[in-house]
Amino acid sequence: MIYSPLSVPSIIRFAAENHSDQEIVSRLNGGAMHRYSYADCYQRIAKLANALQALGVTKGDVVGTIAWNSYQHVELYYAISGIGAICHTINPRMGADRLAWVVAHAQDKLVFFDSQFSSMIDAAGTINSVNHWIALEADSKKNWLPPHSVKPLFYETLINEQRSNIDWPDLDENTSCGLCYTSGTTGKPKGVCYTHRSTVLHAMAICMTDVLGLSAMETILPVVPMFHVNAWGLPYGAPMSGAKLVLPGPMLDGESLANLIDQENVTSAYGVPTVWMGLLDYLDRTGRQLPSLKRLVSGGSAVSGDMLQRFREDYGVTVINAWGMTETSPVGTVNMPKQRSQNISQAESDALALKQGRGVFGLEMRLADTENRPLPRDGQATGELQVRGHWVTEGYLHQADLDALTEDGWFRTGDIASIDPQGYMHISDRAKDMIKSGGEWISSIELENAALSHPGVAQAAVIAVPHPKWQERPLLIACRSQTDAIAATDLRDYVATQLEKWMVPDAVEFIDEMPLGATGKIDKVQLRKIYQDYRLKE
Ligand code: AMP
Repeated sequence: MIYSPLSVPSIIRFAAENHSDQEIVSRLNGGAMHRYSYADCYQRIAKLANALQALGVTKGDVVGTIAWNSYQHVELYYAISGIGAICHTINPRMGADRLAWVVAHAQDKLVFFDSQFSSMIDAAGTINSVNHWIALEADSKKNWLPPHSVKPLFYETLINEQRSNIDWPDLDENTSCGLCYTSGTTGKPKGVCYTHRSTVLHAMAICMTDVLGLSAMETILPVVPMFHVNAWGLPYGAPMSGAKLVLPGPMLDGESLANLIDQENVTSAYGVPTVWMGLLDYLDRTGRQLPSLKRLVSGGSAVSGDMLQRFREDYGVTVINAWGMTETSPVGTVNMPKQRSQNISQAESDALALKQGRGVFGLEMRLADTENRPLPRDGQATGELQVRGHWVTEGYLHQADLDALTEDGWFRTGDIASIDPQGYMHISDRAKDMIKSGGEWISSIELENAALSHPGVAQAAVIAVPHPKWQERPLLIACRSQTDAIAATDLRDYVATQLEKWMVPDAVEFIDEMPLGATGKIDKVQLRKIYQDYRLKE
């Protein structure tokens, strides 16, 4: 066979040739719509790649992006990696200090940014590695704050001057093409580098029917930000399959998403459960239906059975649970049905849907106990989930001291899981979120799901608090769906009907707003800080 290295720009070139008129539609800051085709996109990518080279970017340089999901961000993904540089997607939700830390740590040479983030960039202060800050905003007369009073360059001006054809350099398929830092809920963020090879193989995998099932017949909406693990690889999978790609920009509330889904006839959308709860609440409030939408894929944290059921019964939408990590590019498992799923009861099917899903060819999974001994795939034994494969990292950028792998080369996920004989993996918790009560482990996810099944509860999080007798006991912290929707004692009694007595949270606290981390997940580190002096009575 002819050897041909796997390369990221080959994906978009393929789309330009084979799906030339298929659309990329973006909702911009402020709500205006931008639409163009894969062929138009490819031409602008070539111009941008020429502009990057003109600015002195060469192989191995790191180029940062601080941007929402938009056509310009897609162009940056491909142009930066196409010339052998590394596209470092920066999460703006992590705040100015962390932003300064990751840009300096990665040694970004240029940073492209949505002007909405200019004050945060200004607060981050001077970062010596950065030669140019480049605003994605087209209008240079717009009134916004230039970072550190340095005059930024403008994206559109830069690319307008360039030719729209390019000969992509030959690159080894193991060249780095992307960089993403983990949300850093513990300690400093950790940088994960993706390669052309890992990115292409991951994109091919997500296109498979039983993974995300992308195709030229679909219109897909990645709500998951392009600054969080490459929006689950969808900006690669969409052009590879010829799917229409709809990019939502910054407006991610229920109403804005419903409008976009309706307007563009979106067939599947991808995001964290918090976003889908927002959409569900909006639909419930307005009675609106979304006829084009068939499927929502939910990942990043556990889904509740209640949400799955309401979407299915009230709106005809299937919610699919998927698991992954920054370190796994991210897709690791997806909860797709098998032939045997057609012959099981609704109750069994509901229980199965809460699992994180079955394995994807290209990524292997195993379970290990605390001594790193193998555990069976019997659906009962729980232990640490370990993975390896074509798109799993072997370590972190410039942090060789962080041990990511076991001695025999498997990545330690830190998730506690079981795997059933059918291959469906079920996460019971993050290792650090489990509650150890008198030597017995309690899963915070199980308790959260029990609370979330009550209609009066909008969000729930369980953390461990010290206890004089049991060392640790669960504290349930919840947000109500409406004021006075339920009292603390009633919620505790309700949860008790679904759990063993010893697992029932000792106390329930209601708060108005749940602290969320940079990727939209509930920030348990913050909750632990807030409740650090919380004491339970014996
Ligand atoms: P991140 O690297 O920020 O994407 O976080 C990865 C972590 O999110 C995983 O190790 C899991 O703990 C958690 N996670 C991802 N997907 C799911 C899911 N479907 N259910 C439960 N936890 C999940």
